Amino acid sequence: MPVNEQQLREDMCEIARMMAAKGFICGPAGNISARLGDDRYLLTPTMFFKQKLKPEQLIIINGQGEKVGPETDATREMKPTSEVPMHLGIYKTRPDIGGVVHAHPVNCVALTAAGKPFRPQVLTEGMLFLGAIGVAEYATPTTQELGDRVAETVVDHDCVVLPYHGVIVGGSDMWDALAKLEVLDQVAEICGKVNAMGGEVPLDRKHVAGMLELRKKYGMNRDSDCDLLE
Ligand SMILES: [Zn+2]
Repeated sequence: MPVNEQQLREDMCEIARMMAAKGFICGPAGNISARLGDDRYLLTPTMFFKQKLKPEQLIIINGQGEKVGPETDATREMKPTSEVPMHLGIYKTRPDIGGVVHAHPVNCVALTAAGKPFRPQVLTEGMLFLGAIGVAEYATPTTQELGDRVAETVVDHDCVVLPYHGVIVGGSDMWDALAKLEVLDQVAEICGKVNAMGGEVPLDRKHVAGMLELRKKYGMNRDSDCDLLE
């Protein structure tokens, strides 16, 4: 299906506003990208309030992270997000991923800083839409090392947690990635409350298996799903 670049540009700006409204990003933090095809990727520029972005201010890079495409007054001063290595690492590892969102949701970061696991088993939608959550080894933001850690984790996980930093989520498109980000933050919030209440009473394994069967029926299953049964 041909990608409608203008539609992607408008969607990316809308998603940035939604992420800011939900508190997933603050200040100039967070970034979003989409696969345009032919070794081209649309993404948000660095150091800019993402909720104020206009479609014409988004920039295009190639697989080497170089800015390509026509230079306009709106993009001349714009530089690609500093987290390019994470985004490219995901696209190169997972050809099925068409959109990526990176944010610093408070519930998610709090859970990692407390050293607590993400347990999608606390929420039926978590099991269905997310499957197992990947946790990347810590690496300094913006570095190629972080890109490498994310790339090795995204092999079998759509949601990758970055300890003490945030999360990066891939989807069939940006909207799918945003939907998973919203569910992931809800899972993290529930985990936090459950931990504060004295800990989880785990759902019976057979019911977890039932949700994974449903996930398979919808074609969303991954090999790592079995981790939820441990
Ligand atoms: Zn970040």
